[in-house]
Amino acid sequence: MKIEAIEVLDREIPLKPEYHMVSALGQCTSNRFVVVRLFVDAGIEGLGEATITARWSGETVASVTDVINNLLFPSIKGVDVQDIREINRRMDFVCKHNWFAKSAVEMACWDILGKDAGKPVYELLGGAVRPLGFRSRFSMGAYDVPRAQKRAQELVDMGFTTIKVKVGGQAEADIARVKAVREVIGFNLDLVIDANCGWDVETAIHCVRQLEDARVDLVEQPTPDGDYEGMARLRRETGARVLADDICFNLVHAKELIRNDSCDAISVYPGKNGGIQKTIDIIKYAGEHGIPCTMGSNIEWDIATAAMGHVIVSQRNMAIEDIPGDVLGPSYHEQRVVSTPIDICGPITTINDSPGLGVGELTI
Ligand SMILES: [Mg+2]
Repeated sequence: MKIEAIEVLDREIPLKPEYHMVSALGQCTSNRFVVVRLFVDAGIEGLGEATITARWSGETVASVTDVINNLLFPSIKGVDVQDIREINRRMDFVCKHNWFAKSAVEMACWDILGKDAGKPVYELLGGAVRPLGFRSRFSMGAYDVPRAQKRAQELVDMGFTTIKVKVGGQAEADIARVKAVREVIGFNLDLVIDANCGWDVETAIHCVRQLEDARVDLVEQPTPDGDYEGMARLRRETGARVLADDICFNLVHAKELIRNDSCDAISVYPGKNGGIQKTIDIIKYAGEHGIPCTMGSNIEWDIATAAMGHVIVSQRNMAIEDIPGDVLGPSYHEQRVVSTPIDICGPITTINDSPGLGVGELTI
């Protein structure tokens, strides 16, 4: 099955008001993403999605569209869609980085492979090692205390058992917010914080110490991008359990994290890591070194969420039972993008066993 043609579309969907995000990366009220339809000569179509936040990845709708149309697709046209590693090699050869653009193309290849084989993508990735329905944590914006407390209560009522609070801004406001959320949710639920690189190491150490009584279960990306030693120091000096996220786009970064003892776990996802295969390479490498992984997010739509789900279901080292991931993106949005949307009910996201990514046709 040779890769024959591609269609690259850009679409925008607003977030539901109660899901507006505020983090160290700024505010998000609407998402404009790129969706691809990839065609092979056997007449099968695959869907892919590039979730795009320039502040996160450096990619924009215009850049992703251009990179796919003028670099990535020409480099893989005519290649056998089964040869995922050759497709990734060619895309990396013509263009550095651009993780989300590459991921959109690569997940469309997996969708085609599954449809051709009559199997869900998780079967192609080794088979299901956990149920198709799995629990996520809720990632709450860096709201002021009254709004954070109101939202925390709503999330508890919805059945969430792990609440993630965005921090990474002004230290005292961050500390007050986290304490206030702990007050609402009590000590039977897990509370994790995510600084999105917004603190320096001194601030991170200060905040974690101030939050001792709030019993934070996990500290996500406390220090700036590239500061492997800062994360290691936070672990050494405070005993905090640290999850690496914004610092880890590829296997090189994962190796640095492990070499420096920087983290207790690594957050991965196909968009950030340049595709499903590269994500699995990181998960497997981390597993060989005793480091569990979980699933991060850029507030995806259904297609990229399905790709995340197939990775979770098929990879034993995705330790989501211990560290739930962020796999709720479609439920944040006013509209769904496919004929078979991902089933999201409160904290539980469930993928299906239809061939390919299992999302049906594009509807936007
Ligand atoms: Mg994060």
